[in-house]
Amino acid sequence: MARYTGAVCKLCRREGTKLFLKGDRCYTDKCAITKRAFAPGQHGQSRKKVSEYGTQLREKQKTRRYYGVLESQFAKYFDMAEKMPGVTGENLIQLLERRLDNVVARLGFAMSRPEARQLVTHRHFTVNGRIVNIPSYILKVGDVIAVKDKSRQSEKIKAVVEANASKPIAKWLDLDKDKLEARVIALPTKEDIELPIEEHLIVELYSK
Ligand code: SF4
Repeated sequence: MARYTGAVCKLCRREGTKLFLKGDRCYTDKCAITKRAFAPGQHGQSRKKVSEYGTQLREKQKTRRYYGVLESQFAKYFDMAEKMPGVTGENLIQLLERRLDNVVARLGFAMSRPEARQLVTHRHFTVNGRIVNIPSYILKVGDVIAVKDKSRQSEKIKAVVEANASKPIAKWLDLDKDKLEARVIALPTKEDIELPIEEHLIVELYSK
């Protein structure tokens, strides 16, 4: 499936917030949001009044870009969220959080979501003992995610795990750092996400 391959820092600047798409660099002064905190392009620094639709659209785009999901796929997640019991907006965020690439990043097995996506497609992870190479795979409570035996020797994965060793792990995931294995122990909630998302704006956008 096609995906965005352009400069990712532009996406953060467009949304006016850090989307954490570049790993360690996002936490340093080199972050483009720190250096140029305005939208990219010729008119990036001009002040514009944003309409209600514009606000809703930006919230959707920010969320979509944060999780690295294409437009059509995002619309499918919304459909799924609407059909699930409970609050549609919360269901949507929960579905996005439960994607395998997101969980791999949350566990510190990758420096960013784009890197996690690549590692998943390169078959470095198992779910319940079987290799899964689909970044959009939705995990459920009880699933066990592990670095594949052979991949535990990978210098790249060792270095990433080492670099992320002190970072906190989401409460809904139980990680065994020695085994490089984790279990989903609960469903994620909005509080588990570092990016503030006003999901009701996305629901309003799709309800038009
Ligand atoms: Fe680039 Fe990361 Fe900063 Fe976003 S948060 S602008 S991806 S360095």
